[in-house]
Amino acid sequence: MTGMKTLLAAVALGAMTFAGSAFAQDKGTVGVLMPTKASARWIADGDNMVKSLKERGYQTDLQYAEDDIPTQLSQMENMVASGVKYLVVASIDGTTLTDVLQQAHDKGVKVIAYDRLIRNSPNVDYYTTFDNFQVGVLQAQSIVDKLGLASASEPKNIELFGGSPDDNNAFFFYNGAMSVLQPFIDQGKLVIPSGEMGMERVGTLRWDPAVAQARMDNLLSSYYGDKTVDAVLSPYDGLSIGIISALSAVGYGSGDKPMPVVSGQDAEVPSVKSIENNQQYSTIFKDTRELAKVTVDMIDALGTGKEPEVTDTKTYDNGVKVVPSYLLKPVLVTKDNIKATLVDSGYYTADQIKP
Ligand code: BGC
Repeated sequence: MTGMKTLLAAVALGAMTFAGSAFAQDKGTVGVLMPTKASARWIADGDNMVKSLKERGYQTDLQYAEDDIPTQLSQMENMVASGVKYLVVASIDGTTLTDVLQQAHDKGVKVIAYDRLIRNSPNVDYYTTFDNFQVGVLQAQSIVDKLGLASASEPKNIELFGGSPDDNNAFFFYNGAMSVLQPFIDQGKLVIPSGEMGMERVGTLRWDPAVAQARMDNLLSSYYGDKTVDAVLSPYDGLSIGIISALSAVGYGSGDKPMPVVSGQDAEVPSVKSIENNQQYSTIFKDTRELAKVTVDMIDALGTGKEPEVTDTKTYDNGVKVVPSYLLKPVLVTKDNIKATLVDSGYYTADQIKP
C-alpha cells in the first residue's frame, strides 16, 4: 500500500514537473551575488530576486559571501565559468571585481550592479538602486525636523556615523545628509562635540554594528562628561541598534534622559520595533520587491535586444564610465507612518513588527 502511494505520488510529481517546464521557457541562468546574510535586507533582496526571476523563466544561482571579499570573487568566477548569462551583483567592496568582470564581459555576460555601484570597471552594463543621495537627505531631515532646529534657541549636539568606505553608497548617504546638516552646523545650531566629520573619520568598515557601538561608547566617555547627545546620524539600522545600545548603557532612554534622535535605513524588523518603542527615531524604507522587479525588467529587456529603461544617466560615475541607472524612491519612516508604509504595502504583517 505504501509502495502504491509512493508510486502515485511520483507519477503526480512527474506530471507537475512536466507541466511546469512545458510552460516556463528557459531564458538562461542569472547569477545573483549578495554581500551577507547578517542583515535581513539582503536576505529579502535575494529572495525577491529569485522569485521574480523564476516567475519570468530564468534559472538562478544565488550566493551570499558573508562580507568576505575573496569569497564573493570566487563565487563570481565560478558563475562565469559555469556559463551564466547575466550577473546581478551587490558588491562587498565595489573596487575589487575588475578582473573577473573582464572575464565575464569576454564571455558576453551582461552585468547589473545591484543597489551598490561597482567601481573601476568598464564592464558594468547597468545599475539599479535607490536615490542614495536622497536617502541621506531624508535621514538628516528627520533629525532636523524632530530637533525643531529651524526654530531652536539653544544649539543641539549631534554625532555623525558613516557607512562602509568601500561601499560607494556610503558617500552618497553621507553627502546627502551633510547637504541638510551643514547649514545648521555653520549657523551654530548644531554642534559636534567630538569634532569628528568626513567619511575618513566617521566611516564604519563593513557596516559592522559592533564597530559603531564601540565608537559610540568612546564618544560618550571622551566628549560627553557634562554634555548631552541630542542626535546621532546613523546611515543603517544595524548601526543604529549598536549606537542605541551604547546610549542605553549610560542611561539614555530612561528617567529624565531622553533617547537622542537616531536615524537609520532599511526598515529592518528590530529597528521598526525600536521605533515603535520610542528608541530609534526614523528609518528609510527601500522596497526590495521594487528593486528586484526593475532589475528583472532590465534583464528581460537585455534578453530581447531592447534598451532597458533607465532614469539617470549622469550621476553614477564608476571611475571609468557613467553607468546608466534606474533610481527608485526611498521613503522616510517614523512611528507615524509605519503602518501606512510597511504594513499596508504588504512588506510586513502587523504581527512581524509588533514590539
Ligand atoms: C545599502 C543600504 C544598507 C547598507 C548596509 C548599502 O549599500 O544601500 O541599504 O543599509 O548597504 O547593508
